[in-house]
Amino acid sequence: MSLKVLKFGGSSVGSAAALRRAAAIVRDELPFGGLVVVSALRGTTDLILEACAAASRDDLPAAQTCLSLIQERHHGVAMELGLTQTIEGVWSPLLARLDQLLTGMAMLGEATPRARDAALAIGETLSANLAARCFGGTFREVREVMRTDARFGKARPQLAALRTAAAPWREALASGALWVTQGFLGSSPEGVTTTLGRGGSDTSATLLGEALDADEVQIWTDVDGVLTADPSLVPEARPIPQMSLGEAEALSAFGAKVLHADSLAPGGRAGFRLVVANTLRLGASRTEILPVPPLRAAGAVTSVAYKEGISLLRFPATDGLEPPLEAARSLEEAGAIRFGLISSPAGTLLAVRPETHAAAEVLGTLAASGVPCESGWAVVALVGEGLRADPVAALRHLAALGQEPVGGLLTGSSTVSIAFLVPEARLGELIPRLHQRCVDGRRPSDHRMT
Ligand code: ADP
Ligand code: ASP
Ligand code: MG
Repeated sequence: MSLKVLKFGGSSVGSAAALRRAAAIVRDELPFGGLVVVSALRGTTDLILEACAAASRDDLPAAQTCLSLIQERHHGVAMELGLTQTIEGVWSPLLARLDQLLTGMAMLGEATPRARDAALAIGETLSANLAARCFGGTFREVREVMRTDARFGKARPQLAALRTAAAPWREALASGALWVTQGFLGSSPEGVTTTLGRGGSDTSATLLGEALDADEVQIWTDVDGVLTADPSLVPEARPIPQMSLGEAEALSAFGAKVLHADSLAPGGRAGFRLVVANTLRLGASRTEILPVPPLRAAGAVTSVAYKEGISLLRFPATDGLEPPLEAARSLEEAGAIRFGLISSPAGTLLAVRPETHAAAEVLGTLAASGVPCESGWAVVALVGEGLRADPVAALRHLAALGQEPVGGLLTGSSTVSIAFLVPEARLGELIPRLHQRCVDGRRPSDHRMT
């Protein structure tokens, strides 16, 4: 029997109305069972992180305020769904544990990455339990199967261990079970809770899809699929009906939040169908991500992505390669994402985004040791299969940027993207301009088919 994994993001389970819509989708898509992965209710993860930060500076009242907000939000949603009675007994110990964790952090005056992951797990667990009842499925604990290393805050999956642990899940789901589980969470080799990095539930769904030999993974979110740009900066961005795995990989790697950066690799390995669709507008367009590239005009840009919060480290040529390589290694180990490492006879530039507190600390130490370090940069990427056939098109687009202060050009082994660094303050103006020129501005007569 074919197996589908459905993932609902925070906005798709953020209110009683959204949960009812998600339940209707589950009924439609999984009449014979399957797996549903859900994130925390929208805003919960941010509130938990805020609570941890408050607790670690010994501001327990502020942490308790966040906890109360979380409690009220959840109870309000459960009440509207008429599920208060059934969910209360499951939620109370979870909320009590969050309270204890926050008190512990306040006593110690710090929120360690491990303690923070333990607190974050509660948000996902509250919501997955509620969704299970709302969807008429059974809650299953994802930490039984999602084996990771112990890099708290940005754990890496251990694929062989995950596959082995998932064997009983494969069997049960193949015989028609409807299970609901948490996204974002994992379990270290010692059985300690980890998280996969912000937005990591997409990756949970695709990793589970791979481990369970699923035929299809559906990512349900609040937009009509993957769009030609981030709609918060480009309101006229359009849905992309079909895109290649390579395009999706490049887009997510360069910051398009709709798909977590690590979420495409499992589909590449396992070959399941991957679909992105809108919970809020059933029947609207959706994006299908294909292993075989769709036809694109030579030079055509499919989408524009960006990521802010990047720091640039500059190493003099005289130091050689070892210091930048060592810095890149220790930053990545602590949970930073490396966006670029460019070396020339004029020196070496390292562009990174610290995703964890540990990575921010490493960055601080490097800056304190005298490595010139500038924050406030962003990476912008033009992505499209059309660039394979006409890579120079991307350079023409860049030339058209005119006076923009481009801090560096990043090309990798992928030929479907070209990226460059700009000051992040420029994004609001630059992204719409680039979208208009590179995506909207191409007339059909400009196109030579690849
Ligand atoms: P979820 O809570 O469902 O995981 P996210 O907020 O993580 O949803 O991702 C969806 C959001 O990603 C959209 O609301 C949109 O603001 C943002 N986004 C950024 N770039 C793109 C893009 N190219 N296509 C679609 N959405 C994008
Ligand atoms: N709840 C987590 C977050 O907000 C994971 C996710 O939404 O994918 O980052
Ligand atoms: Mg997301």
